[in-house]
Amino acid sequence: MTNSEAIGVFKERIAMAEKYGYTDEIRDYIEAMNLAIDALEKQEPMKPLQQEMDIDGRAITPCGSCGEELTQNILYDFCPHCGQRILHEKGH
Ligand SMILES: [Zn+2]
Repeated sequence: MTNSEAIGVFKERIAMAEKYGYTDEIRDYIEAMNLAIDALEKQEPMKPLQQEMDIDGRAITPCGSCGEELTQNILYDFCPHCGQRILHEKGH
């Protein structure tokens, strides 16, 4: 099973659970599945956004998920702000 298939399964289960109404147990169950979906989605490599200049004319690269700056000099595998796996361009 791939991450995106697992996300699909969780989304189906959330839709099913919502039909049972919102008891505390179902609310916890849905919250836990949403956390799992969020973690799985962050595992999928995502390209950073287009480089932009900050107010000091410094080039910054924003994270594709949270938009926070990815430090230029360190090639992170994961965004230090939100945990998103980063897709690095080949040849860098
Ligand atoms: Zn981020």
